[in-house]
Formats: sequence, C-alpha cells, structure tokens
Amino acid sequence: MTTRTGRCSCASVRYELAGEPLFTHACHCTQCQRRAGGAFCMSMILEPEQLRLTQGQLATFEIAGDNGTLKQNRFCVDCGTMIHGAIPSHGILYLRPGTLDDTGWVRAQAHIFVKSKQPWVELPGDVPCFMEYYEPNDVWPAASLARLAARVG
Ligand SMILES: [Zn+2]
Ligand SMILES: [Zn+2]
Repeated sequence: MTTRTGRCSCASVRYELAGEPLFTHACHCTQCQRRAGGAFCMSMILEPEQLRLTQGQLATFEIAGDNGTLKQNRFCVDCGTMIHGAIPSHGILYLRPGTLDDTGWVRAQAHIFVKSKQPWVELPGDVPCFMEYYEPNDVWPAASLARLAARVG
C-alpha cells in the first residue's frame, strides 16, 4: 500500500496518508472561497483510518454547513494550517491535499459549485463540472463506491 506524508506550515504537525483517496474534488462555493481566501478549495475524500497523525496536535472547530450538517475542521494548534475536515455523521474525512509533501500526483476529479466560481477560473474540458454538488454514484469510480458501501455495511 502506498504511504504518503504531509505536514502543516510550521511542520509541528505531520501525518501519513495510507492508500489511495476515495475521490478528490475542487469546490468553488463561496464558503470554500472564504475559507481558502482564494478561488476554490480542494478536498481529498478519505476513510478516517487512512490518515494517521504522526506528530503534533490538531485543534477542532465546528461549523454548520449550508444544509445544517455539522462539519469539523482540524488545524495545527501552533500555526493554524487546516489539515482536514470531517463530517462525523458521514464517517469520512476531507484532507486538504495542498498539505501533502508531494502534490504532483493530485488531480481534481470533479469541479463542484461552479455556479459561484470566480470568472477568471477556466475549467478543464475533460473533468466533470457541476453547478452544485454531485451524486457520488454518478461520478466516483466503482472501486471507491464499493469501499464506501463496505463501510456503511
Ligand atoms: Zn503548524
Ligand atoms: Zn465548498
């Protein structure tokens, strides 16, 4: 199994990512733009067991999403870099892939909430784009859907 490493800006938090992500998307919603202070956020969706903190400490902040779902965002306690989010009711993690030591292999497999994307952002023609969210059954690779189904049991 492939193991990859990542860290926060100050390097007090380090982690290991085991195996392949379920899916990676770029979200252009206004909440993500605000959180990133930029044009979009990338989320690498993982099973919680895939991410292991090997050094440092994370602080957790909770916010309610637009639909009222509770989200947790986890940050380095020393420098405030966001490492990952979680939706406890869904049992999955959203890694910020920009915190990986090697980002050369990371690709957005879909762009979502493109209805609010910044006008200068040009979307690639060969990647699925959605005005809002997508239905994972329609977009995720079969192997990822099977892993998710196995978790839910
Ligand atoms: Zn840090
Ligand atoms: Zn978003």
